[in-house]
Amino acid sequence: MSRPLLKASLMAACLVALPLGAWGDKGHRVVSILALRSLPKEPGDWFRGREAEVADHASDPDHWKQDRKEGPRHFLDMEPYGGPDHLPHGQEEAQALLGGDYARRGTVPWIIQDRWRDLVAAFKEGDPAKVALATAILGHYIGDAHVPLHTTMNHDGQLTDQKGIHSRWESGLVERYISVESLSVPTAQPDPAFLKRPWEWLRASYGLVPQLLADDQEADRTTPAGNRGPLRGQAYWTILWDKQGPVVRQQLQLAGQHLGEAVLSAWIAAGKPAAPK
Ligand SMILES: [Zn+2]
Repeated sequence: MSRPLLKASLMAACLVALPLGAWGDKGHRVVSILALRSLPKEPGDWFRGREAEVADHASDPDHWKQDRKEGPRHFLDMEPYGGPDHLPHGQEEAQALLGGDYARRGTVPWIIQDRWRDLVAAFKEGDPAKVALATAILGHYIGDAHVPLHTTMNHDGQLTDQKGIHSRWESGLVERYISVESLSVPTAQPDPAFLKRPWEWLRASYGLVPQLLADDQEADRTTPAGNRGPLRGQAYWTILWDKQGPVVRQQLQLAGQHLGEAVLSAWIAAGKPAAPK
């Protein structure tokens, strides 16, 4: 490879290594709407008239990425740890395994724990505006943990010649095919072990990666190789939705359910405060 070409490809590699947003704005909104829908009456009362506020702030953390520390809060790469069966549970353990720059490989499970504690504090403080905002922010990271490509170093298909799959899956499919009315979520149940759950979600998300990539490859056989810009033709979208649509729906519904459980559990941990009149 010539020098300029090498330089250009290195720059491209750096660009694709930048963290991407998950679910796009619409997906994050959907997760927050489902979560509020799942709440029993008493904790749900905290959000009456504030549903739009929660949805409007659900993508805020994706706008904070000018801060270099923010990007890795949205994912966890599993490969550096040796795969999903070897994930560290504490950040000290992560540091012992990967060294000082472990955070570059993602910190989403610990961020979920921290933002959940913020929500408990907001309930204790008794301010519904703070509860709504803390729910939106917590929901963002819970949503991200349910996006399969947020668990792998191949987060944009850059290692398998499938660049752009990240946004095709989380935004392209959601924008084209998802309506929140067609999704459902069970009534939230309290989860005393909530703080351990993010690892389970991440492991499940990681298990969805191989099929997701295989389905993209199959759909892409409809696309002429010289014409693989960011937009694919309708034939591509039809095949990808046919194969991955159930997975997109499942992951949105699970994220909404888990955010609902997180809110209910936080409200219980705060002592079940009644919503201010
Ligand atoms: Zn994100």
